[in-house]
Amino acid sequence: MCKHILNAQVQIRAQCCKKWFDCPECHAENEDHEILKSPEIIMACKKCKKVFRKDVSTEFDECDEYCPRCDNHYVIPAETPESKGKLVIEFEQERGFEHKMFKDERERDRDNLTMQ
Ligand SMILES: [Zn+2]
Ligand SMILES: [Zn+2]
Ligand SMILES: [Zn+2]
Repeated sequence: MCKHILNAQVQIRAQCCKKWFDCPECHAENEDHEILKSPEIIMACKKCKKVFRKDVSTEFDECDEYCPRCDNHYVIPAETPESKGKLVIEFEQERGFEHKMFKDERERDRDNLTMQ
């Protein structure tokens, strides 16, 4: 089970080392080389265990998001622990930043007032 994409529906075959991975991050963690990117990806559906090829050099059609053998919908928003954590952190940082900007502006206004 991949810890990066919690809801992975397919495995991806790395062209460089001919091994199966749930996601490119798994490859990066287990191998000491960069993953070889190719316009055609070999994938295996986790539901029906069938292997199929996907041309990723062109735009995805809606029908391309399903396994050609069992119609398993594999193109779904990836659930990752990182993305969930990042969303919360970014939101908090943004709020803090806005608050700081607002305070600075008010302080500048006050300075201007005392100068006049
Ligand atoms: Zn590799
Ligand atoms: Zn992974
Ligand atoms: Zn399938």
